This record gives sequence, C-alpha cells and structure tokens, in this order.
Amino acid sequence: MRLLVVEDEKRLAAALRRGLELAGFAVDIAMDGKQALWLAGEHPYDAIVLDIMLPGVNGFQVCAELREKGNWTPILMLTAKDGELDEAEALDTGADDFLSKPFSFVVLEARLRALLRRGSRERPSVLSVGDIQIDPATRSVRRDGREIELTAKEFSILEYLARRQSEVVSKSDLLAHAWDFAFDGAPNNVEVHISNLRRKIDKDFERNSLRTVRGSGYRLVADAA
Ligand code: CA
Repeated sequence: MRLLVVEDEKRLAAALRRGLELAGFAVDIAMDGKQALWLAGEHPYDAIVLDIMLPGVNGFQVCAELREKGNWTPILMLTAKDGELDEAEALDTGADDFLSKPFSFVVLEARLRALLRRGSRERPSVLSVGDIQIDPATRSVRRDGREIELTAKEFSILEYLARRQSEVVSKSDLLAHAWDFAFDGAPNNVEVHISNLRRKIDKDFERNSLRTVRGSGYRLVADAA
C-alpha cells in the first residue's frame, strides 16, 4: 500500500516515513500543500496522511481541492492538540479521520489500516441531486447558485430524500427518519412539509425534482434546467 505523507516538519516527516516503511508501507513525502496536490494527481495513493498547518496551501484546502477534483483517496488529517474545531472542519472538508498531535505510532498505523479497508469509493460531504446542492454540515441548500431558506424539518426531509436519490420513499419511512420520537404529526403533516418544500426547491425554479408517487410516497430526482 502506497501512502502520501504531507508534513512540513522535517523531523516528524522523516520519523513518519521510517515508521510507516517499517510497517510495510511505501511512503512518499510532500513538504507543502502544492507539492501534495501535484503528487496526489500523479500517483494513485491508497491513503494520505495530511497535516493541517502547512506553508502556503493548508491541509483543509488540499483536502477540499482533492475532493473537488474527484479524488476520493482516504485522508487522515493531523490536527493540533485539543483542536475540536479543526477536527470538525477536517471531517466537513472531506477527510475520513483525524488524529491529534502528538499521536502514538501504533494508533496511527491502526487508523490507516482501518481507512485502507474502507477503500476510496465516492463519499461526497455535499449531496447533489441534479443541480440541487445540499450541505449537511452547514445545513444549507443551493440551486442555480441561489441559497434556499428551509425550516429544520424541511431540511431533514430533503436530506433524507437526497440520500436515497431516485428511490421511492414512503411516508412512514420519512416519518421514521426525518422525525424524532416526539414527532407532532399525523401523516398529513408530512404532506404539508412536502408541499412547502416543493414550493421552495421546485416551483420557485420552475422545476420538478420532488415527485409524488401516488399511493407509495415521494422521490427526489435530478431535474436540471
Ligand atoms: Ca505542520
């Protein structure tokens, strides 16, 4: 398995290379973000260990740019100690895992093995259904470059339908996934939310993405202009 380690601290980079090579990995080192992006574009790495604090292009930017280019190589980010915000941002920009410095080498190796088992299938952090973009991290929705204001419930419904894109989702399924135990509604409550959602995401854009399947439920499909 071939790894790219992106770390600008020379001693840590050298120690990582030595340790990971002993553990049986082939290791390339990038000393900054630009070099990391170049190497990741040239070689099919099995995983990337990515420090956040880098000169020039930082680790978040490297991660976001790789994902934007369709590169889904598993990424483990190295964050600062007690950097809860860093850790959240790492996952939101498309990293798969993080480890805070200083870390134990045994844990690093175990996390890498776990990532490698998962492989590099596509797992975008922003959901796209045609030209609708749904970002669960910021709970924002855009279509045609316009931001759409949704209530919390409308967002939950849309997110669930987007995760099951093109499938027919029954009302009871929606109730089970987009409502919590204390839900306030009879099934016709679902219809009210659906009709409000449809007005905001479809009617305002003269589209038809949120379809009703008579007697069965709803489907969210790509319907680009
Ligand atoms: Ca650094």
